[in-house]
Amino acid sequence: METRDGILETIGNTPLIKLRRASEATGCTILGKAEFLNPGQSVKDRPARQMILEAEKRGDIKPGGLVVESTAGNTGIGLALVANARGYRTLIVIPETQSQEKKDMLRLAGAQLVESPALPFKNPNNYQHIGRRIADKLRESEPNGVLFADQWNNLDNRKAHYVSTGPEIWQQTEGKVDGFICSVGTGGTLAGTSTFLKERNADIVIGCADPRGAAMYNLFAHGEAKATEGGSITEGIGLGRITPIIEDIEVDTAFLIEDSEAVPVVFDLLEHEGLCLGGSSGVNVAGAIRLARELGPGHTIVTVLCDIGTRYGSKLFNPAFLRSKDLPVPDWIEREVDIEI
Ligand code: PMP
Repeated sequence: METRDGILETIGNTPLIKLRRASEATGCTILGKAEFLNPGQSVKDRPARQMILEAEKRGDIKPGGLVVESTAGNTGIGLALVANARGYRTLIVIPETQSQEKKDMLRLAGAQLVESPALPFKNPNNYQHIGRRIADKLRESEPNGVLFADQWNNLDNRKAHYVSTGPEIWQQTEGKVDGFICSVGTGGTLAGTSTFLKERNADIVIGCADPRGAAMYNLFAHGEAKATEGGSITEGIGLGRITPIIEDIEVDTAFLIEDSEAVPVVFDLLEHEGLCLGGSSGVNVAGAIRLARELGPGHTIVTVLCDIGTRYGSKLFNPAFLRSKDLPVPDWIEREVDIEI
């Protein structure tokens, strides 16, 4: 019998999928790590599992305890599922601007949801500060402990990718990987995966794909963590400052990816390859295409397919939303069916 002992054992070991059209267009082999196939349908299941299991080992949380986190949604979904499987409750602080689908998923998984106004990090009422304050306050009344997961500062987030995502990519490519590129939310994926890959082969080119409004493009391209002008419809990515997770990583090249470049990539992957993905995956694949052009034909480049597209039905796949942002609307979304029944 081949069985798994609960959902924790179903996290990770995701396939590496060859992206046909991106590969054909560049003469490279572009591979996407299929993180949308995790049980919580995103890459953040990996750090959710790691952060909870490490906290258990340290004795920071006991059965019946409370997990608190500030999150754009995916980390919260991962934490809620892992917490349920391990006997904890969850309280999640999420900016109100994040997609309704993610909030619905959090509620149905039993998380207590606190919606906060979308304010910049320097504002004391930014969701990341609210989460920490709530955790500190509840610690006084929770007998079984409160874990503030703290994904931006918690090095177990990065470790999750150092012990799983990186080794999986190395094994799946049999070490034949020339480049790895992804975007940054907390930077856990980029930092943990790239550190592992560079240790195996220092010649692997590490790239960062950054949306507008974040600071990673300027940090890695020009050495200064200055946010680019404007904003992006993508969710879960776009870091504006240097954190402990990314402060010492080696990134060789960076690309600023506009929504107008990333969104058509998301639609193209769905229409021609049957991959239903969120906006950050579009930034990543657009970044992989740019890196492929920089390295030239014949190279193997790996990127991350971060989460499932159904999480964004009301935004990225909503014609009215797309038009309001001056983004192209795929023709199949509004296609009428003209069949008599
Ligand atoms: N894409 C999506 C949709 C996400 O939710 C996240 C996590 N915030 C990321 C990408 C980036 O992952 P990381 O936090 O590891 O940088």
